[in-house]
Amino acid sequence: MVAPLRFALTILLFLAFPADAAQRTIYLTFDDGPLDGTSNILDVLEAKQVPATLFMVGMHAQASSANKALVKRAKGLPLVTIGNHSYSHAYNHYRHFYSDTEGVVADMLMANAVLGLKPVVHARLPGRDVFRLPSMSKNDNSLGQAQIGREDPDYEFVAASGFYLYGWDHEWVHEDSGKPVQSVDHLVTEIDHLFGYGHFVKPGKLILLMHDEMFRDVFDGKTNLTNLINALKQRNYTFGALPGYDG
Ligand SMILES: [Zn+2]
Repeated sequence: MVAPLRFALTILLFLAFPADAAQRTIYLTFDDGPLDGTSNILDVLEAKQVPATLFMVGMHAQASSANKALVKRAKGLPLVTIGNHSYSHAYNHYRHFYSDTEGVVADMLMANAVLGLKPVVHARLPGRDVFRLPSMSKNDNSLGQAQIGREDPDYEFVAASGFYLYGWDHEWVHEDSGKPVQSVDHLVTEIDHLFGYGHFVKPGKLILLMHDEMFRDVFDGKTNLTNLINALKQRNYTFGALPGYDG
């Protein structure tokens, strides 16, 4: 076969079978709900039929009857996994919260009860990018030297209390107001680059961290999330359900 023809065939094959589409999986995760923004997320997930995990806060679930209804609605969606993101969200005092392993476990178990979750429960600890899964373990590399030991609970004990703990690979960052920082286009470019470099906790798998409050109407929540999912689908990314992540 002459070289130019072979080259053309290679290009054609590449276009027909994108190199490693099956190995490029994105896990959408949303933290801190139920909050304003959660119903927009559920609307979009339902319309686009993609799996996602909502790491919910027990205290937020109890805050109103509307929030209780959101938990119930999310639980009724087959593609949605409800995860545990603690009862209190550490009241945002991480140092105090994480100095007491048994207190952390008690708080997590209380969220199980409120959210109606039974072990093994998929969970994300508030403010901690920590993994404890059957096949792997990763600590939070963002903690400073002074924090290590002092506000580092015994994660093995937490996991052994009935939790698979998940951190994240990349974040759609938001301002204090909840306003998303990256545009959808910018975020998709970042994701493309990350798959180019491949520095993930698990090869070919990207856990994307987002927060429910980013998807309020005031930030064009439904449009942003729909556009993100459409753009990722166009690039042949696969969407994964977190319960299959460690498989
Ligand atoms: Zn959180």
